This record gives sequence, structure tokens and C-alpha cells, in this order.
Amino acid sequence: MYTFEEIIGNEQMIKQIQKSIYKKHISHAYIIHGEAGTGKKLLANTIAKTMQCKKQGITPCNECTSCRTFDSKNHPDIFYVTAEKNKNSISIEDIRQQLIKNMEIKQYKYPYKIFIVDKADTMTIAAQNALLKTLEEPPYYGMIFLLANNVDKFLPTILSRCVVMKLRLVSTDKIEQYLFHHHFSEKENASVFAEYAQGSIGKAIEIATSETFSTMREDIIQKLLSLSKQNDDLSEALFMAKELEIYKQNQQFLDIMYLWYRDLFVYIKCNDEKYIIQKDQKKNIIAQSKKQNEADIIKKINAVWQAKQQLSVNSNFQLTMEVMLMKLKER
Ligand SMILES: [Zn+2]
Repeated sequence: MYTFEEIIGNEQMIKQIQKSIYKKHISHAYIIHGEAGTGKKLLANTIAKTMQCKKQGITPCNECTSCRTFDSKNHPDIFYVTAEKNKNSISIEDIRQQLIKNMEIKQYKYPYKIFIVDKADTMTIAAQNALLKTLEEPPYYGMIFLLANNVDKFLPTILSRCVVMKLRLVSTDKIEQYLFHHHFSEKENASVFAEYAQGSIGKAIEIATSETFSTMREDIIQKLLSLSKQNDDLSEALFMAKELEIYKQNQQFLDIMYLWYRDLFVYIKCNDEKYIIQKDQKKNIIAQSKKQNEADIIKKINAVWQAKQQLSVNSNFQLTMEVMLMKLKER
């Protein structure tokens, strides 16, 4: 629905923004940056919707024609700039055609003409330079939001002309509460999924609503249980490396493995089930703790960690999986 009340985390910043809206101290250009899933798009859209709302309050009314056209994704005075020519970067042509030229024409019927540029840190240097003039002398009705994971990609001249806002990751507790209120009827499930989200509310919503994630989690846990069987058959590990190929594009399976061994480690250390995060797997974790010792688990946690590092620098997927799974099989 896009209202400020729905945004989780970053409370101080949200208050500050609402205060500026109230006092009408609004800038023509903002950079909103933060890690993936921290809610950059949600924030930019919420500010845009509020600025265009006919009630002119500090949050959208959700009832006026502006709010309603926004919700139906047809707002005539809010534009989304995307990479069209080359999918990986926003070119000078994209900026000229979609933003600069369009900005020259006055708004259609609402107070502002607002441009939201997602992945603005992929703008080429030429594109950034082209944007400078508009940032310097924006028309009275113009507003630009540049969204970015990496703020260092912007030219200093761009940075100095924008109000820069950094979004931070949200605490696991807050994500858990959110998931419990919106997606799960059981607290235990909310806490497991909040842990996988690693501070990203976007990721939390994505995995909580995805059938694929739950199925993958089931599958990965079954595989880890099977690896722990008492035999020295390494071919099982090699075979499994092939099966993991289906998750090549979604490496969250490594987070699932990591959390699995984390729970096992903590349980072996403390011998207290209240510290187990994956409450739904309590029985399996307690059973596993009898078969493996602390040193084994540390090695396995390291193996998963190393695999994650390797894949982040684009190592060969198959080989990385083989090495990791053989270490997970070892005892
Ligand atoms: Zn409204």
C-alpha cells in the first residue's frame, strides 16, 4: 500500500523525512542507498506518493485520486527510469530520453513530476555527467530519487547535489515481529525465516511468501541429514554436488546450511534447546548432536563459509560444491 506506517526499521530517518515533508523542506534530488533488500524502492515510492497526495499530509491518504492512481501503478506524474539499451548499466541515452527530456515538460496534474532511478549506481560516467545540469537547476516541479547499493559509484559532483540517505539493515527481532504479524500464524516459523533474512526486510518478505524457498529448505536439510550417515561413501557427496546445480542461481541454500550447523554447534555447546533457532527442526538437531562433536561442526561451518566466499568471486560452481560436500561428509 506504500505508507510510512508500513516501513519497518530506520525509524529515525523516517521521522526526519516526515518532518521535512511537514515543513515543506523538500529537496529536488535524493540519493537513497543501502544493501539489497533494505527498502530503498519502498521508501522512494512512499515519499513520491506522499508528495503527490491531494491531502498533502505526512503520509499518503490512500483515498484521493492521486493515491489511487499510484496504487494502480498508473500515476501520470511518477516515472521509473530503467536501463534499456544495455541491461547492466544506465546509459546516457536512457537518462536523456527517460529523464532529462521528460522533465522539460511540466507535470500533468499533480504537484510534482517525480523520477525514480533504481540501480542508479549503474549509470555510466557519461550518464551521470548528463544528469548534472538537471540536478543543478531542476524545474520547481521536479524531483529525482537515485537508488543505489554502492554510493561510491557516484561522481562527487552528483553526491554534492543530492540529499544522501543511508538505509540500514533491520534487526532480526523486528523482522520476526513483522513476519509474525503479516505472514505466519506461528512465532516459531517467523523466527526461522527472520534469521534467513539477515536484516533485509525485502528478503524476508520474498522468502516468507515463496513456495520455492520452503521446498529448497526441506531438500537441503534432508541432504545434510543424509550426509551425516555413518559411512565413508564419498560418491554420495559428488552425486549431491550435481543435484545442487538447480540452486546455482539462488545461493540462499548456503544460508540454510549455515544456520543448520550454527544450531547444531550452539546446541552441542550449551546443551539447551532454547538456543535453537530452527525450532521446527529441534528433534533432528538434537539427534544429530549425538553423532558429531564440536570440532567437526566448526570444520563444517568453515566449509560452508568458504564455499560462499568462493561463489561470490565466481568460482566454478560444481567444483566448489564438490569440495564443500566432501568436507561436510568427513568426520
Ligand atoms: Zn492521497
